[in-house]
Amino acid sequence: MSRVAYVNGRFVPQRGAAINVEDRGFQFADGVYEVWAVQDGVLLDEDGHFTRLARSLRELAIERPMSDAALRRAAFETLRRNRVRTGLLYLQITRGVAPRDHAFPRPGVRPTVVMTAKGLKLEDSDARAAKGVAVITLPETRWARCDIKSVSLLPNVLAKQAARAAGAYEAWFVDADGLVTEGSSSNAWIVTADGVLVTRPLTANILAGVTRAHLLRCAELLQLRVEERAFTPAEAKASREAFISSASSHAMPVVRIDDAVIGDGRPGPVAQALRRTYLETT
Ligand code: PMP
Repeated sequence: MSRVAYVNGRFVPQRGAAINVEDRGFQFADGVYEVWAVQDGVLLDEDGHFTRLARSLRELAIERPMSDAALRRAAFETLRRNRVRTGLLYLQITRGVAPRDHAFPRPGVRPTVVMTAKGLKLEDSDARAAKGVAVITLPETRWARCDIKSVSLLPNVLAKQAARAAGAYEAWFVDADGLVTEGSSSNAWIVTADGVLVTRPLTANILAGVTRAHLLRCAELLQLRVEERAFTPAEAKASREAFISSASSHAMPVVRIDDAVIGDGRPGPVAQALRRTYLETT
């Protein structure tokens, strides 16, 4: 079945879908995005992603292109037209089209809105989670406002590619203090030797993962001990468990970091329980 994209109020065949060459998203990566996991036709953590979208737009002073209600209608119509019941919904909003100039265009330029949907099988993600994934560590090379979900993702792209080249699934950035910030497209977690769940607190140098917030609620349900603090790669390598979180991977167990095997090299019980609870509480 051919895919359909939403582009500025119209549904068009994705193969031919296009934006203006002077779109500021293309010229300057001057835009923001969101990704929702879709399950049985439901947008997981629907409100959390819309709230973060509104914040990203506000932080970059990009005008809201349409009401939340209209965005949501377009989102569900994009899913319907692509017959996606389980998969991902992608939304990008840029500052719009204007003659190329670094400074913002005059007021009134309409933001560009694009949505696409992709079907995925939950079983593929479950199969990956059953084996666990490998992570590499890399120096942090991103800007100081990683809390904004901007489409400016070049360091993330390079980090993910380095991971793939090393036969790993994800790369964790390590800041100048020697602490893990987050993954190239996920938040980072460990379970210490004495069973404490640890993830970095929310500051400007990581994205406030919507899945991260949901998993913290799951941790409460499971009565886990939680510490929001940064950790080093050395602590992670000596930990009992590690995992990553994102809308597309939920909670994904990590069984190797660089050359270190985590725990007994198999997905740990805390990561598995959180993954299960996450999927049960959506
Ligand atoms: N950090 C980064 C850099 C990401 O790209 C993502 C995925 N969008 C996340 C964390 C996880 O965020 P979420 O759980 O909202 O998908």
